[in-house]
Amino acid sequence: MSASIDRLGDGLAVSTVFTDPVDMLAYRRDCSVVRPGDPDLVARVRDVAEVQAAVARAARERQPVYVRGGGTMYAGGINPHAGGVVVDTGGMDRVLELDLARGVVVVEPGIRFAALIEFLRPHGQTIGIVPLTGPAATVGGAVSAHALGSGSPRQQGMGDCVAGLEVVLPDGTLLRTGSAAADGAGFFQRYCIGPDLTGLFIGADATFGVVTAIALWLYPVPSSRDTVSIGFAGVAEAGRFLAAVQGAELTRNTWYAAGYEGSAVRARVAAADAAADLDALPGFCTGFDLGGDAAAVAGDRARLLELAAHHGGRECRAFDAAYFRRLRYDETYWYSYAGYFTRSRCAILMSSLPCDRLEAFVATVDGLRGRWPDYPWGAAVVLCRRGLHGGVLAFYDERTAWDAVTPAIDDAADALVAAGCVPYKSAKQWAPQVRGFGAYSATLGKLKSALDPDGLFAPGNLGL
Ligand SMILES: Cc1cc2nc3c(=O)[nH]c(=O)nc-3n(C[C@H](O)[C@H](O)[C@H](O)COP(=O)(O)OP(=O)(O)OC[C@H]3O[C@@H](n4cnc5c(N)ncnc54)[C@H](O)[C@@H]3O)c2cc1C
Repeated sequence: MSASIDRLGDGLAVSTVFTDPVDMLAYRRDCSVVRPGDPDLVARVRDVAEVQAAVARAARERQPVYVRGGGTMYAGGINPHAGGVVVDTGGMDRVLELDLARGVVVVEPGIRFAALIEFLRPHGQTIGIVPLTGPAATVGGAVSAHALGSGSPRQQGMGDCVAGLEVVLPDGTLLRTGSAAADGAGFFQRYCIGPDLTGLFIGADATFGVVTAIALWLYPVPSSRDTVSIGFAGVAEAGRFLAAVQGAELTRNTWYAAGYEGSAVRARVAAADAAADLDALPGFCTGFDLGGDAAAVAGDRARLLELAAHHGGRECRAFDAAYFRRLRYDETYWYSYAGYFTRSRCAILMSSLPCDRLEAFVATVDGLRGRWPDYPWGAAVVLCRRGLHGGVLAFYDERTAWDAVTPAIDDAADALVAAGCVPYKSAKQWAPQVRGFGAYSATLGKLKSALDPDGLFAPGNLGL
């Protein structure tokens, strides 16, 4: 590790600083369709003191601050649209504490999910949610974006796995939330006095501070796992089934569940088995990844099939073998968004919807296919504890179609809202809709002004 030296002036020490445009090329953008920005300076920080030094320098120069973890997000949060300082936390990657008795692991923000999983494996422990982007994505980025976890009814979302945070605020204060607010108490309880201050920074996309430590709850690695894929003639029946699953609290052992259009089911099965009878495949297919003790997994599997039968559904072994089971076991870590991003550059827009809007959601994507035939459109829904997250995906060639795909995504945003869906994450892309949120966006704005009166932290990332 290189030593901190006074690279920022006035005694502000950071071990690595880039100002050369070539060195800063990799800091212009994440993996999204959102336009790149141009930083003035990149500070690759190694510890809390260096974060505070970088924040102090930005305050001194009245420059914006953007924060970067792994840069794998597809929402543009790290893109320094207003220029200024990019704080790269990727080098803060240590496990700070493993407390098996309290069931908590405390990590620095730059640790990669894959490294954390490997660290926990010998202890028979895991964390609730691991992204497909796990080898490169950082825990700090995932928590700050809170974009992960759609599809994990058991855990709900990435933010729901967080027991507490340590954050450097825009004025340089070091804040610890939850039980760690009390000196010496450490991280074990998310809540303390008053509202959930931990939650203020989850999904904040660096607009309220730089996260410097994260406490995550631990879960034992399940002793048994299984998948089941269940097909339905139509989307409406599948929506009713998914609502019934949630109503019956049949999600406690579901680490991941998703729904796939018939066209995707046929394509996956055909790719795996040229002789498959494609006409026999369902119009819509759901998939559940179950984990727990063997009896619980077997029991839930049987109950899911029984409940599905009431809605005209039946097991679809062909899709499970060709795709869902392989996705869950072979190709990815425990959590993923259907493997799309391993295949192509794609623009993604996420929304939330109640199960009874599933048919409208799929119809909306069909409408986009008709209006924007140049892009192969994909739709994927994942199950939450209540309702669904629906991802609309437009595959495009980044070299030729970056400008062209933007209006298609804007159209998708309007069409989704018209279909009864709600913006979820990616505020830069949903900005026109977020501004219409009245009291909600006004309150966000007031919080932002209170903590960051000069508006230097990640301008644009709240969509305000
Ligand atoms: C709507 C949506 C849904 C997604 N769903 C899935 C999914 O289902 N499965 C999957 O595998 N992936 C999913 N992703 C992608 C996944 O969320 C990202 O790959 C991963 O979480 C980002 O980690 P990162 O370290 O690369 O973050 P980055 O891209 O580096 O940063 C993400 C955000 O966090 C901020 N940030 C980073 N570090 C800090 C810090 N230390 N302090 C404060 N702010 C910080 C950044 O400024 C940025 O706003 C989804 C993304 C989106 C937009």
